[in-house]
Amino acid sequence: MDGKESCPPAYHKANGVRFIRREARQHMHRLNCKCGSVSGHVRNGTPNNHLRCYCSDCQAFGRFFGPDAGVLDRKGGTEIVQVSQSSVQIERGLDQLACMRLSPKGLLRWYARCCNTPIGNTLANPRVSVIGLIHTCLDAATLERHFGSSTADVNTDAAIGPSKPTQHGLVSTIGKVLLIVLTDRITGRYRKSQFFSEAGKPVVEPRVLSSDEVALLKRTT
Ligand SMILES: [Zn+2]
Ligand SMILES: [Zn+2]
Repeated sequence: MDGKESCPPAYHKANGVRFIRREARQHMHRLNCKCGSVSGHVRNGTPNNHLRCYCSDCQAFGRFFGPDAGVLDRKGGTEIVQVSQSSVQIERGLDQLACMRLSPKGLLRWYARCCNTPIGNTLANPRVSVIGLIHTCLDAATLERHFGSSTADVNTDAAIGPSKPTQHGLVSTIGKVLLIVLTDRITGRYRKSQFFSEAGKPVVEPRVLSSDEVALLKRTT
């Protein structure tokens, strides 16, 4: 998708004075599954987090899609953008949304079943309104421009290989998650999620993987 289309000019002239347009800080970032059946956009208004998670659960989720899916980097990290669920607007292909869990109480891990593209992770409680979008459904060309180039690295102890990335950015990441959740609670915006029904249930029944399936996905050798 052409970035120009989704990004209005940074300035416009009004009464001879230059104003920074509000939209300039709220780009529309394209969201697509690999085959294009699922498409939409993400408003990237602040706050948001851009991070890499190396935890064994995110690694297992990445491996769920096979070795060629390109979800994990070579140290097992998953690049994630955390935003309010209300910022995500899926315009087409909502019926292709599928959901899995690594355990009965684990995160809801959403993906497009048409072509097995990971979409994002949420908690099962819709009031905790953050979604961690997986880079595979985002636009690599504009990702840094829209969500910042400095990423936090978290759960680095579980990274693959002897030289672990240094953990950093965790405190500010948690702070921004709290800010998103609190703001959405106060404004009632947490109800504007396409991932949960009005009754607060996931829109798709999650498939819980068996412990054998998870053990296989967590094997790194
Ligand atoms: Zn697809
Ligand atoms: Zn993780």
